[in-house]
Amino acid sequence: MEKLIFLGTGGARFVVSRQMRASGGIWISKGNTQVLLDPGPGALVKSLEKGLNPAKLSALILSHRHLDHSSDVNIMIEAMTEGGFKKRGVVFAPEDALEDDPVILKYIRNYVGKIEILREGREYTVGEINFSTPIKHIHGNAETYGFKFKFSHFILSWITDTRYFAGLAEAYKAPVMVFNMVRLPSGPLDHLSMPDVVKILKETMPRVGILTHFGMTVLRANPWKVAEEIERATGVKMLVAKDGWEIDLEAVSREYF
Ligand SMILES: [Zn+2]
Repeated sequence: MEKLIFLGTGGARFVVSRQMRASGGIWISKGNTQVLLDPGPGALVKSLEKGLNPAKLSALILSHRHLDHSSDVNIMIEAMTEGGFKKRGVVFAPEDALEDDPVILKYIRNYVGKIEILREGREYTVGEINFSTPIKHIHGNAETYGFKFKFSHFILSWITDTRYFAGLAEAYKAPVMVFNMVRLPSGPLDHLSMPDVVKILKETMPRVGILTHFGMTVLRANPWKVAEEIERATGVKMLVAKDGWEIDLEAVSREYF
């Protein structure tokens, strides 16, 4: 079974601080390996509510150090290592999540089996899960990476927080593409907007696109309506993530390939 479980679909400060959408990150499982991507506020609570056991996690992955992606990382490390008594698991994070003003506390670091620093253009493996970090994003002062995960039937790429820039689409071209689409209109902010997503899709033409990590402007406009508009503009089938959504990736390949 290969699947994604959305423990949160909220993005950016207003939506997350009001919990208009949850922000627990994305639980990814492939075979016997389970990892949690971007454990934001509520990751522990949402995992347990879903019946997911953090002690079974093989790794935590941080795309970057901003709070909506990392605030529960320390408690998730404690849960993954059964209170720090079982030294195990891997934490993948950009270097600045560990340097001065670190989001991963120093005393907690001893609990984990290994800390791996994410760098541009590298490939990483944990258990049965393999992913790469194709390109460094432009996202304020936080070192940020997105991911290309290898699943049995396709590669799923995940464009996490970033400003649009030349080379972004090419770096993430894959049959299934996930977008952290924080904003509706484009603007001078380091986040993807709907026009950015349209531009990337026209260049990459995946079988399926998935939208998540919504800020206020997208929620106000209704993400499902925004997705329809994107489908009309690009011809690409769009799916919209909601809190608690489990997506079976084998079903995706059966349905859309
Ligand atoms: Zn961010």
